[in-house]
Amino acid sequence: MSEPLHPEIRESVRRLCAEFPGSYWQALDRDRIYPTDFVRTLTEAGFLSVLVPEEYGGAGLGLSAATAILEEIHRSGCNGGACHAQMYTMGTILKHGSPEQKARYLPGIASGALRLQAFGVTEPTSGTDTTRIKTFARRDGDDYIVSGQKIWISRAEHSDLMVLLVRTTPRDQAQKSSDGMSVLLVDMREAVGNGLTIRPIRTMLNHATTELFFDDLRVPAANLIGEEGKGFRYILDGMNAERILIASECIGDGRFFIDRAAAYASEREVFGRPIGENQGIQFPIARAHVQISAAAAMVDKAAAMFEAGEPCGTEANMAKMLASEASWYAADMCIQTHGGFGFAEEYDIERKFRETRLYQVAPISTNLILSHVATHVLKLPKSF
Ligand SMILES: Cc1cc2nc3c(=O)[nH]c(=O)nc-3n(C[C@H](O)[C@H](O)[C@H](O)COP(=O)(O)OP(=O)(O)OC[C@H]3O[C@@H](n4cnc5c(N)ncnc54)[C@H](O)[C@@H]3O)c2cc1C
Repeated sequence: MSEPLHPEIRESVRRLCAEFPGSYWQALDRDRIYPTDFVRTLTEAGFLSVLVPEEYGGAGLGLSAATAILEEIHRSGCNGGACHAQMYTMGTILKHGSPEQKARYLPGIASGALRLQAFGVTEPTSGTDTTRIKTFARRDGDDYIVSGQKIWISRAEHSDLMVLLVRTTPRDQAQKSSDGMSVLLVDMREAVGNGLTIRPIRTMLNHATTELFFDDLRVPAANLIGEEGKGFRYILDGMNAERILIASECIGDGRFFIDRAAAYASEREVFGRPIGENQGIQFPIARAHVQISAAAAMVDKAAAMFEAGEPCGTEANMAKMLASEASWYAADMCIQTHGGFGFAEEYDIERKFRETRLYQVAPISTNLILSHVATHVLKLPKSF
């Protein structure tokens, strides 16, 4: 097997994560508190700005550097979900923003002075069927006036800016269902209390996700990214990076579970011998390793294609599906290997078990990936 890419970055991420042990995450998890210190430390170390080009103050590295960082965070028992969006959401501005928008926002995002952590797409009534979103932005002089609702918008309370997908032409008046949507950059510092209300949603994991209510929120037209009506295309672009990065978090989770299970199985003695001597215990650990290694190869492939600027929608989807299923298998295996102790908070396994389950649903659910592969790759008839 080839050596992992970016060994120095991995080593420094591991050192940083060692300062945030399980007890730190357990305390936050209990009360669903945002990991502010962890995010600040990652920001100051420059790990969240690796994808921002050097001319704007970032490290200008490729996606594989970001996958290495997130994998190591997760392998260390930490969680990058609180801040991973700071790495890639800026891609929408970088790829589709005007020179003025890039100059205005990217240096602050690179330094961490500006948090661009929120990405608002999902709505309660449209779900995965994104072209049916209803949040609407009506032009009024130099502003757009936004009305509608979003759900599951993570980190909205911990973000200065949000990339927001809205309709600017009703679906039934657009030429294609994916036309007529636009991307606005919302300044949360001005918006909250002036037409935007944020309501946190408590979930089975500590994820700072929220529901957003827009009631005639004014957004300057200068904050439109790219062309009006072409927004769907812009966000699809960013979604490939997101899927590959989240897949790398799953790889990290999977390796965390395998490391923990292998160590425990070697030391825990029952019936006078280590439980790991039993093949009934060994084989699931070995199977998890095989599955995670295969998924990791797919993540590396998708990241390499993304870095080379090649179309990688299918590979990004396949990497996310394989990695999220492999990490879930590893999570289940790890609980089983630990017996009763798998359920104890202080072991961190039940927390990671809850955390890694998310990735088969968000940012895209498995069925939608299978549907993409069935219809786009295998050319089966479309079901929707
Ligand atoms: C903790 C959390 C954080 C999130 N963060 C964000 C965020 O920051 N920004 C954001 O925009 N969104 C976010 N999401 C939303 C997430 O992307 C969606 O939940 C996810 O894409 C699934 O959409 P849905 O919940 O609307 O499910 P639905 O679309 O209602 O689907 C429900 C189930 O039905 C299946 N299904 C639907 N249609 C079909 C079909 N035609 N064929 C077969 N199966 C089908 C789906 O696969 C899914 O399993 C987050 C969600 C969670 C839970």
